[in-house]
Amino acid sequence: MVIIIGAGPIGLAVAIELKKKGIESRIIERGTLVNSIFHYPVNMTFFSTSDKLEIGEIPFISHGSKPTRHEALEYYRRAAEHYQLKIHLYEDVIKVDGDDGDFEVHTDKNSYTAKKVILATGFYGQENRMNIPGEELSKVTHYYDDPHRYTWQNIVIVGGGNSAADAALETWRCQANVTLVIRYPSLKPSIKYWVKPDIDNRIKEGSINAYFESELTEIRKSEVDIQTPDGLVTIPNDFVLAMTGYHPHFGLMQKLGIQLTEDEKKMPVFDPESLETNRRGLYVAGVVCGGMDTSSLFIENTRVHANQIAEHIEKSNS
Ligand SMILES: Cc1cc2nc3c(=O)[nH]c(=O)nc-3n(C[C@H](O)[C@H](O)[C@H](O)COP(=O)(O)OP(=O)(O)OC[C@H]3O[C@@H](n4cnc5c(N)ncnc54)[C@H](O)[C@@H]3O)c2cc1C
Repeated sequence: MVIIIGAGPIGLAVAIELKKKGIESRIIERGTLVNSIFHYPVNMTFFSTSDKLEIGEIPFISHGSKPTRHEALEYYRRAAEHYQLKIHLYEDVIKVDGDDGDFEVHTDKNSYTAKKVILATGFYGQENRMNIPGEELSKVTHYYDDPHRYTWQNIVIVGGGNSAADAALETWRCQANVTLVIRYPSLKPSIKYWVKPDIDNRIKEGSINAYFESELTEIRKSEVDIQTPDGLVTIPNDFVLAMTGYHPHFGLMQKLGIQLTEDEKKMPVFDPESLETNRRGLYVAGVVCGGMDTSSLFIENTRVHANQIAEHIEKSNS
């Protein structure tokens, strides 16, 4: 038995590839199926075409040129059903005892024995906090969902990446009064090429306010402070969307005995061929492999981990 921690696209892909080789697995997921995608903005469209998101050779047909969140939820649900994967939802993995061939995986509900363990926990569950006064107020979120929530409200969006640009444009089109607060002199160069002119023009014409080289310094019930190059600015505020990114659960990785690189990326140490970590029999898969570098690994370029891991486990069984 192999235990896979996380029922994201890559956890599912690993379970499918193992199944094809006749190796039994069980996925433990702390939220719902493909929990990260479930928590993406409701109107979100993937930047990848659907063929790049396919797992287990199941065709993913989408209505537009790029699939939507809703289509992806249905696709991964059907893929899991088709392969009859064993998945435990709403169960949080807390620690893993034992050694290669004889692991014991402890969750908040149960314990399971496993010969091998795969960590496919992504990064979307842990937000990068701003660590400023007022961040704990209920009007502050790190997970933007639906623009309609912000109609006729004064909102501040923190960040200069794709998530911030998408949220700014969507909420502005729902008649929110939008102010962007960006730490750098410009938006990130990684902004999707079809979004860039839209956001640039909305800022240029003054429809969306933007403070560059600026930081939010305090959030209060009905206003916020922004430190700008021209001094401290206070503006009225109803909601703050902190699009400041996410990071893998380093605490869990360390608890599991996975070594992390000492540079700012804090990547788990693993063999690039097999994805096995320094703890024998324990593998990493999917975007968790990138550590703090959350913008270079996707479903597109990590779904191949499933074959690599399944092949290595098959070999080590024979
Ligand atoms: C807005 C947005 C748009 C994106 N668009 C694209 C795109 O177009 N193309 C593309 O290729 N990629 C895209 N990505 C990236 C990609 O969707 C995600 O990185 C992808 O979900 C990664 O898959 P994963 O299986 O590695 O991790 P995840 O999908 O994050 O799955 C990890 C799972 O592990 C679970 N988990 C975590 N900790 C525990 C625990 N202790 N116990 C049990 N379960 C746990 C989580 O709940 C989660 O369900 C996008 C990301 C974002 C945020």
